Amino acid sequence: MEFKKATLSSRKSIALVAHDNKKKELLSWCQTHKQELLKHTLFATGTTGSLIEKETDLSIKKLISGPLGGDQQVGSLITEGKIDLLIFFWDPFEPMPHDPDVKALLRIAAVWNIPVACNAISADFLVTSPLFSNECERLIPDYDAYLEKRKAVVS
Ligand code: PGA
Repeated sequence: MEFKKATLSSRKSIALVAHDNKKKELLSWCQTHKQELLKHTLFATGTTGSLIEKETDLSIKKLISGPLGGDQQVGSLITEGKIDLLIFFWDPFEPMPHDPDVKALLRIAAVWNIPVACNAISADFLVTSPLFSNECERLIPDYDAYLEKRKAVVS
């Protein structure tokens, strides 16, 4: 795979997702970091987003609920370059009906090399990094180069 540089803007599009046993923790994290979060564009899966809006007054672009495809929607937006950072408090103690979607979301986040926090302490590290609210660069797969190589393989 070849890679190219891409810029993460200072105003980031952030996806927030929490499994049911982790929702309180994410709500509390959002309260703690509300002033910082206000500077960014926030997305969330359905239930998580509704709760955050109700409890914090932060404005959230709500996707569909996770078990109904919301995790896949987040993954799709990452692929399109429309999500820059993922905060995903997943529950390591409960099997989920949508486990394959959770795995797929984490894989796509790794493919597109976006910052991911899966627990509150990692999210604290992210939100306090100077990169959180400054422009920064990351490497992403070079899709044009990838297509050229694929064409050579199948022709
Ligand atoms: P929810 O989905 O915010 O709709 O609860 C989260 C998830 O389970 O992925």
